[in-house]
Amino acid sequence: MPTNEIPLGTQVVVDAGALGQLLAALHRRGYQIIGPTIRDSAVVYDSIESTEDLPAGWTAEHGAGLYRLLKRDDQALFGYVIGPGSWKQFLHPPEVALSSASREDGAFRILPGDAPPASPRAFLGVRACELAAIARQDRILLEDRYVDSIYRQRRENAFLIAVHCTDSAPTCFCASMETGPKAESGFDIALAEIVEPDRHVFLAEAGTARGGEVLAEVEHTRSNAETRAKVQRAVAQASSKQSRRIDTAGLREALYDAFDSPRWEKVAARCLACANCTMVCPTCFCITVEDSGDVSGHRADRRRKWDSCFSQTFSYIHGGSVRLSAKSRYRQWLTHKLAAWIDQFGAPGCVGCGRCITWCPVGIDITEETAALRGQEPPAAAQQGANHGDASAR
Ligand code: SF4
Ligand code: SF4
Repeated sequence: MPTNEIPLGTQVVVDAGALGQLLAALHRRGYQIIGPTIRDSAVVYDSIESTEDLPAGWTAEHGAGLYRLLKRDDQALFGYVIGPGSWKQFLHPPEVALSSASREDGAFRILPGDAPPASPRAFLGVRACELAAIARQDRILLEDRYVDSIYRQRRENAFLIAVHCTDSAPTCFCASMETGPKAESGFDIALAEIVEPDRHVFLAEAGTARGGEVLAEVEHTRSNAETRAKVQRAVAQASSKQSRRIDTAGLREALYDAFDSPRWEKVAARCLACANCTMVCPTCFCITVEDSGDVSGHRADRRRKWDSCFSQTFSYIHGGSVRLSAKSRYRQWLTHKLAAWIDQFGAPGCVGCGRCITWCPVGIDITEETAALRGQEPPAAAQQGANHGDASAR
């Protein structure tokens, strides 16, 4: 096995046919590889064994309340934008057993909860907005006053392989949130996919020393200025294509000032309080703890689960819920994401991935709502969605 390393920041060209060598180098180091694959008519992140599992030739149509897989006319491996799932499901799992208690033969025993994954994990295909989302969760779950040990166990060994976005979905607005479409930091290796009639390659760059070691084990050639410029152009195009945006200037103050805006009633009339937006959001981190016992009284379990500010029970204190109406819950969600989060953690809780727009069953659009609350024109794509019934669910 070669022991040399590709220096940080050096960009090399890897043939698409050699991408399997990257997976093999990670397997040799004991990593379980999680990457994009097709399941249940969507691009999802799951355990993958080889490049055969990647969604070659697939993309997806996105809109407010709309997602549909489509075939591409090439064999791009990362030719989709993002699916419903994010890396949050692996780092901050939806459900974890914290502990159990059992009573048998007169003895009472406390049993441990779920063990952390046996192998370290490598995440393949992390988009720039998703790197930003992981950084936001790091800030909350690792770098704040209390460290979340469940998150830390999963995060500390994670190897991140980013893929720059060279296309944007109509629901993307990472450019306005300054989180994409190019992965700037937080990765071990970053890839940019180039698919042309006569070549299919990746421009690859190491972001850490361990990334450089892994990349050195993959057949590569030196990159030239033309290839690097091509990627820069594609990323710039992906950025300029984004027609949704959030104006972040003065946003925090504007949202606090909008507490009594009639817009909250308007959006609440559509909102189902289903919590989809919080489940798909890569930065939402709220949890609850549930205790349950069996009928015989011999076993009790304590489990931690994702929770949502859209549920009525979430704000239950001293015999009642603080936020009874959909209006108060939507206002809590949006104001926390885009204003209070800045007070708490120094940055908004939104990275512009657009998932909450795509996966809202009634097509509520955070960019449109934010603009309306500020008395601004809705972004162009949001307007089109409204005009053309972007999702029949509207
Ligand atoms: S609020 Fe919506 S657009 Fe922003 S990060 Fe969460 S899911 Fe993505
Ligand atoms: S905004 Fe949409 S996804 Fe979120 S709770 Fe309301 S209906 Fe559900």
